[in-house]
Amino acid sequence: MPIDAVKLREDFPILHRRVGDAPLVYLDSAATTQKPLAVLDAEREFYLTRNAAVHRGAHRLAEEATEAYERARATVAAFVGARPEETVFTRNATEGINLIAYALGTAGRIRPGDRIVVTEMEHHANLVPWQQLAERTGARLEWLTLTDEGRLDLDGLDRLLDERTRVVALTHQSNVLGTVNPVRRIADRAHAVGALVVVDGAQSVPHRPLDVTDLGADALVFSGHKMLGPSGVGVLWGRYGLLESLPPFLTGGSMVELVEMDRTTFLPPPQRFEAGVPMTAQAVGLAAAVDYLNALGMAEVAAHEDELTGYALRLLREIPGVRIIGPADPVDRGSAVSFTVDGIHPHDVGQVLDERGIAVRVGHHCARPVARRFGVPATTRASFHVYNTPDEVEALAAGVRAAQAYFAR
Ligand code: PMP
Repeated sequence: MPIDAVKLREDFPILHRRVGDAPLVYLDSAATTQKPLAVLDAEREFYLTRNAAVHRGAHRLAEEATEAYERARATVAAFVGARPEETVFTRNATEGINLIAYALGTAGRIRPGDRIVVTEMEHHANLVPWQQLAERTGARLEWLTLTDEGRLDLDGLDRLLDERTRVVALTHQSNVLGTVNPVRRIADRAHAVGALVVVDGAQSVPHRPLDVTDLGADALVFSGHKMLGPSGVGVLWGRYGLLESLPPFLTGGSMVELVEMDRTTFLPPPQRFEAGVPMTAQAVGLAAAVDYLNALGMAEVAAHEDELTGYALRLLREIPGVRIIGPADPVDRGSAVSFTVDGIHPHDVGQVLDERGIAVRVGHHCARPVARRFGVPATTRASFHVYNTPDEVEALAAGVRAAQAYFAR
């Protein structure tokens, strides 16, 4: 069933608030999404009735908390077609990438002269950890560059893939350009030279159906707070064989098998990568977000956002002086729409929009190399989720025109 965003907004009380005299128009879901009551209720219910430290204690509450946590893992794993034992709860996508990069380094899998490949459109979260790993190991960091349209220049792939390429780390969907990358095609070519493929799904998992088997990658990370779930919980999915071959990232309680004064053995995945008492209520909240998205249907979520994105691109393109940074047509792209307005700094655009109750993000969106590639200091970014409506897209376009009128004076 197509999404009825107006009706669905009843589930999101925050969307009914006002900003000064104006109703809130929330167009910053690529930064973080709002949460439906079902998610808030699930967290509250956990604390009200079941709160205990998981995997510990022989009492009923601990048992029920553990059950809730492991049920949440199974729900979140199934959402991306994965098995629970391959699904690690992290703090966020950033932590998942750091975990993999760090563990590969510790395992001695990256040697001097090896190659780590990223792309020019990465969020800092999928760039800096690989820079650090390259620095730590003496490997070379190289990257796929971008076309003027904001897509990966795949002609560069042959040059970057050879028997020294150990890792290809790339985003599934750019948080600035909106571009959706052909992960499967790249993964197949990377695997042909024996490289591991790590995918940053922070901007794809929340917006479209995704199955890790079809994706063809070795690891995938995403964040709960960008998919209607709570902050403080994210996911690292990894092929079991990969996870099993990696040493821990953080160490301490909950991830150990046998501890003596001078040595320790570790539990198998996923526990090996979950040191300390985990974020239990947040995991339960994330599972509630997944249930909410599943009830809507991810294909319908994607269709709804595609419609809004197409409409936004059309209205923005009609405004003289507006330049879309990223694919200007709604094909193989997601719902983050970045743009500049001739003669007006993005911060000023953002301020005029904010005065009209419209929340967008301005800046480099934690992907500075992208701004540099397109020769802009910053962009204004509008981004959508299930609760946005065509009226809000029109409010955005009217706001951009108002900014132009204001600064033309
Ligand atoms: N990757 C991408 C593409 C993102 O958009 C973000 C969040 N802006 C991240 C990674 C990092 O997510 P988090 O801060 O939740 O770890």
